[in-house]
Amino acid sequence: MNSRVIWCTLIVATSIVSYTVFLNVVYSQATEYSMQEIKPDVYIVSAGGYNSLFLVSQEGVVVVDAPPAIGDKIFAAVSNVTDMPITHLIYSHAHKDHIGAANLFENVTIIAHNETAKILNERNDTNRPIPDKNFTKEINLSIGNQSLLLLYPGPYHQQGNIFVYLPEHKVLMAVDNVIPRGLLWKHLSVTPDVPALIKSIDQIMAFDFDVFVGGHGQPGTKDDIIVQQEYVNDLRKNAVTALNEVNYTEVIKGINGSSSATTEAYFNALTKSCADNIDAKWQAKLEGVGVWTDEHCERMIISESVD
Ligand SMILES: [Zn+2]
Repeated sequence: MNSRVIWCTLIVATSIVSYTVFLNVVYSQATEYSMQEIKPDVYIVSAGGYNSLFLVSQEGVVVVDAPPAIGDKIFAAVSNVTDMPITHLIYSHAHKDHIGAANLFENVTIIAHNETAKILNERNDTNRPIPDKNFTKEINLSIGNQSLLLLYPGPYHQQGNIFVYLPEHKVLMAVDNVIPRGLLWKHLSVTPDVPALIKSIDQIMAFDFDVFVGGHGQPGTKDDIIVQQEYVNDLRKNAVTALNEVNYTEVIKGINGSSSATTEAYFNALTKSCADNIDAKWQAKLEGVGVWTDEHCERMIISESVD
């Protein structure tokens, strides 16, 4: 990937301490962040396991997401590459761990999906200002010399979660979806709708992109997303196999408990059947396999039982 990684710090202009001393002694309170230029004028800023993306246009800077873990470091990152003001802030979704520092942005136009606006109206959280502009299905934005497509793929993680696509740069950002070379977060990224999650990965693959950006972890390629899709398809296949092959009557024999105890024993057996197969196949292929396999399997099994 044609990327440039720069480790940056919030350097006090008059400081004469060395970079090492600066990091280790003077500013040990996690003031560092990393910044990658993934395409000309397109940057990822990362800190504390979270990512923001920003895009420099001739009219101003467009930022996607404002995680508290990054906080005001985003301003240092932007001023490191341009004197242009930040004019727009896009919310990927309503969760506070991704946009809870939005209140730090002044004089910006905030754009989000209308479901995100609805959620934020209910939350009444001053750290997450209500969007100035929202949309239902998709919206094309032309800001200076840059184009963005914001699109609602369905609630793969939360109502109102969106894709941010930069067609000229072939960059696609989808937050709290798959993680290149890693694993979906707990319980399939706590999806409220497993079929929407599965469909959203198909939708990602339909875009013409060569850099995928998630809300966590490193960026990836289309090949990385193909692997993620295979992992999710394999979870689904093994969930179905477990439902077909694990014998309820056999499993609950000898359990003299409540109906919740027998249900739990049955689901444990289903989950074990699925997780054993997934771990055996994926252990060496994705970072972290084995940690959440049982949660991924159980979520998929529940979905296959009811959706
Ligand atoms: Zn989230």
